[in-house]
Amino acid sequence: MKYDYLIVGSGLFGSTFANLAKKDGKKVLVIDKRSHMGGNIYTENVEGINVHKYGAHIFHTDYKNVWEYVNSFVEFNRYTNSPVARIGNEIYNMPFNMNTFAKIWDDVFTPEDALRHINEEKKEITGEPKNLEEQAISLVGRTIYEKLIKGYTEKQWNRDCKDLPSFIIKRLPVRLIYDNNYFNDKYQGIPIGGYTKLVEKMLEGIEVKLSTNYFDNKKYFDSLAKKIVYTGPIDEYFNYSLGKLDWRSLKFDFQILDEVNHQGNAVVNYTGHEVEYTRVIEHKHFEFDTETSKTVITYEYPADYEDGMEKYYTVNDEKNNELADKYRKLAVKEDNVIFGGRLAEYKYYDMDDVIKSAFDIYTFEVGR
Ligand code: FAD
Ligand code: UDP
Repeated sequence: MKYDYLIVGSGLFGSTFANLAKKDGKKVLVIDKRSHMGGNIYTENVEGINVHKYGAHIFHTDYKNVWEYVNSFVEFNRYTNSPVARIGNEIYNMPFNMNTFAKIWDDVFTPEDALRHINEEKKEITGEPKNLEEQAISLVGRTIYEKLIKGYTEKQWNRDCKDLPSFIIKRLPVRLIYDNNYFNDKYQGIPIGGYTKLVEKMLEGIEVKLSTNYFDNKKYFDSLAKKIVYTGPIDEYFNYSLGKLDWRSLKFDFQILDEVNHQGNAVVNYTGHEVEYTRVIEHKHFEFDTETSKTVITYEYPADYEDGMEKYYTVNDEKNNELADKYRKLAVKEDNVIFGGRLAEYKYYDMDDVIKSAFDIYTFEVGR
């Protein structure tokens, strides 16, 4: 066999695994069905601006080893995500912090003032929150839930907040300080020059075949390597034999505008039902030295997944988690195949989780 590993997918999981194996002297081939490498973190230079082709990606982590790892390939800038949320003609700071509370309630100046309102409003929830709506109200009260959470969440997931698991909203910090940083993690930034540069460095010296779908010739690809590392959707690998997992997709509407600065921030969330998109991204604001007379923006429309679309988000409710578990049991029995990444593990992973998972799985694989 020509290779030690045939890696299906050049996203962050595949690239990390490939990089670690190559460093250990293994022979690796990476294939990807897309015409570019990097999976969903791929960025493309348009009009001198690094455009995040699959939605805004901000690297943030608490894992020191993951941060050091990505910084060993490229330099990161000091970007700190601080989106604003727009509803009708009002604008609020995100995540939920003293700036948000002071604007929502005009008698709020101190943390104590904010807590007074939140505690009053959350009285309607008694006992453990049973769904996303109850969880949100018990975190920030009904006023903020209705202005900044309900519409955004229902557009994003196409479900009533009462039918969604509460963990989704727990991703967002709630802070009693004037701090608009969207993440709590110690390390944060964006690769200078874009994510594609990061992936290119990770895959340096590794054979990569693009526009190549594993399932078009599975037998042939399996014959090439001792082991397969599969990072595509787990249900697809098993030909949906136990049923289809649910996924959420997105539609992106890219526009190049003859404006220097369109919205004054990289990310503006639209939290109401008056527009169908959830976010508008202005890519030049992810980096600090982009001096162009034009700007590139993306409208992000959540969408039900249909055949031919990309699977962006897992739907980790009870029903889907149970089905994913059944597939995981099949995966364990699959000789010489390693399953990893957001699609193959069916987990709502951030980038750092994906790298961490690749570290762990690789370490287990080589027995160190
Ligand atoms: P992917 O990037 O999906 O890579 C899988 C690759 O496998 C793809 O390139 C695909 O083409 C290929 N593939 C699949 N099937 C086959 C096949 N049959 N044959 C050949 N190739 C195949 N994380 C953060 O940390 N911060 C953020 O700000 C952030 N923002 C996000 C915004 C959006 C809109 C989305 C959708 C995700 C965001 N994430 C963010 C999460 C991040 O994108 C993922 O954690 C990460 O990119 C997953 O990497 P992966 O390698 O597991 O999967
Ligand atoms: N969310 C919200 N209002 C916002 C932004 C996010 O209600 O302005 C909720 C929404 O339910 C979303 C969840 O918080 O699915 C997690 O948001 P995050 O920005 O982490 O989403 P992702 O990075 O996965 O797109």
